Amino acid sequence: MKNVAVIGAGTMGNGIAHTFAQNDFRVQLIDVSQQALDKGLATIESNLDRMLAKGSITAEIKDQTLANITTYTNLEEGVEYASLVVEAATEQEALKKSIFKDLDNFCPEDTILATNTSSISITSIASVTSRPDRVIGMHFMNPVPLMKLVEIISGYSTSAATFEIVKNMAEKLGKTPVSVQDYPGFVANRILIPMINEAIFTLHTGVAGVTEIDEIMKLGMAHPMGPLQLADFIGLDVCLSILNVMYQGFKDPKFAPCPLLVNMVQAGKLGVKSKEGFYDYSQTKKAEKVAARFV
Ligand code: NAD
Repeated sequence: MKNVAVIGAGTMGNGIAHTFAQNDFRVQLIDVSQQALDKGLATIESNLDRMLAKGSITAEIKDQTLANITTYTNLEEGVEYASLVVEAATEQEALKKSIFKDLDNFCPEDTILATNTSSISITSIASVTSRPDRVIGMHFMNPVPLMKLVEIISGYSTSAATFEIVKNMAEKLGKTPVSVQDYPGFVANRILIPMINEAIFTLHTGVAGVTEIDEIMKLGMAHPMGPLQLADFIGLDVCLSILNVMYQGFKDPKFAPCPLLVNMVQAGKLGVKSKEGFYDYSQTKKAEKVAARFV
């Protein structure tokens, strides 16, 4: 399995492409937006430069990693020779289903179709294809080149053979695959995102400020990042859509998104990627300055 197509060159897609390419896979990186592809490649290069400066990779590995990646805006061309596709496009069920319908038509019959979805049902995505036994969740964590965990989610019809291939693939990337069943939010987000939502409610109801909430969780729970900074890093739109999927999937009010989160997404304040969330990222990507609204 040497050709891996990655759909979407955003936060996750460029990290997934980087990781496969650095482990000797040929990667076809596909996005509807040429600008997103250019930005994705620039991010991969700057991440490789950081690794080179730290001495964790050589200049040859950097060059080979970049040489292993080809970019496409045309899906059909990009997936023509793919043995595995990892879809990391925007977290919207209708969009993912339309991509999987196309993938089913364009990919060779034995290609495994994986999705990096944070919360959408694998079974539901698989239902639009003629190969639900070869559709699976491959949920990487952000930042992909650094984080060891990959949740491998078997849908209702995913075959044991598909699971084994994808699990071995994750191990070849130096990751630790963990097997999970297909229920809303899987495991990581089922636990993490309600905590982030509760942190936003705590801010919204004036119990404490942005810095105080993050400081308490960092110092008190030994979390490397506070929940509000982490939400900015994940993307507030992504957090909101995961909450909505769990809210609708379980019909349980404990997953109802905080109105402040809804407002911020509607205002286009999505965190690091839009340069403002709970923190201001206009000067640096580090969460050094709290956004003016919360001061
Ligand atoms: P993002 O918004 O940064 O990037 C999404 C990319 O998909 C964009 O570049 C967009 O142009 C592209 N896209 C949209 N429609 C497309 C199409 N039809 N074909 C090809 N490309 C298309 O999003 P992201 O944060 O990288 O999230 C991608 C996926 O990964 C989502 O399913 C998300 O839930 C999941 N995920 C995100 C995180 C995270 O921390 N951000 C972590 C794990 C999983």
